[in-house]
Amino acid sequence: MFRDFGSKAGSGGQQSASLANVDRRERQTQLALENIDLEKDPYIMKNHIGKYECKLCLTQHNTIGNYMAHTQGRRHKYNLHKRIAADQKDTPIKGIQKQEKMFKKTLKIGRPGYTVSKKINPETKQKSLIFVIQYPEIDKELQPRFRIMSSYEQKQEPPNPKYQYLLFAADPYETIAFKIPNKPIDRGEGKFITEWDKDTYSMTLKLHFQKEDQKQIPKIPPPSAKLPPPPSSLGTRKLALPGKVIPPPPINAPLRKQ
Ligand SMILES: [Zn+2]
Repeated sequence: MFRDFGSKAGSGGQQSASLANVDRRERQTQLALENIDLEKDPYIMKNHIGKYECKLCLTQHNTIGNYMAHTQGRRHKYNLHKRIAADQKDTPIKGIQKQEKMFKKTLKIGRPGYTVSKKINPETKQKSLIFVIQYPEIDKELQPRFRIMSSYEQKQEPPNPKYQYLLFAADPYETIAFKIPNKPIDRGEGKFITEWDKDTYSMTLKLHFQKEDQKQIPKIPPPSAKLPPPPSSLGTRKLALPGKVIPPPPINAPLRKQ
């Protein structure tokens, strides 16, 4: 007799092992829940794929246990400290709502790689910046987006009117921002170029700043000296009128002493 039971028992065994895992995880979860009142934690959020997010640090955690461990970590404590300090100025509810609106709830995989180079246009002597951002894991239907933001519009740093911010965004990457001088950007032909290379997954943005003298108010010409009226048609004719003859200046006239 074939012992079919054997294999069945085996697979049954595996099944119960994985069930035991689930059980264990649930127990861990239960334990975590018992120890800390998560309902009072304003930063935990279960997302659409059933994982846990820390709204404070914008991190994602596979299990509630991982989330709990995260709340004991340096990053969370640091952010919590910052938040408490900020809340003393702002109302806490307002602060959290603001942050929720600012960040789309997508799983972010980190910052993209990038290079920035400074150049001087050999022809126009304008200063230029070239940004190349690498997005190898970009969502295939997407194209990176960019935006220039004023120092007052951004909320990450205290505003400084000397700077403006150039932002690049492409899911699932984190949005990155470059702080650039707050100088007028030349939007003339060939001066502001963006290119998305689908084969190398690289986004290139090249910008030129207007030259210092470009932004100056054009010189107003001095009020024109009173020019003699254009000669009338008569003027072209030799008039037989006795005009005043101005004598030529005397040659070798002695220079007046000052
Ligand atoms: Zn956190």
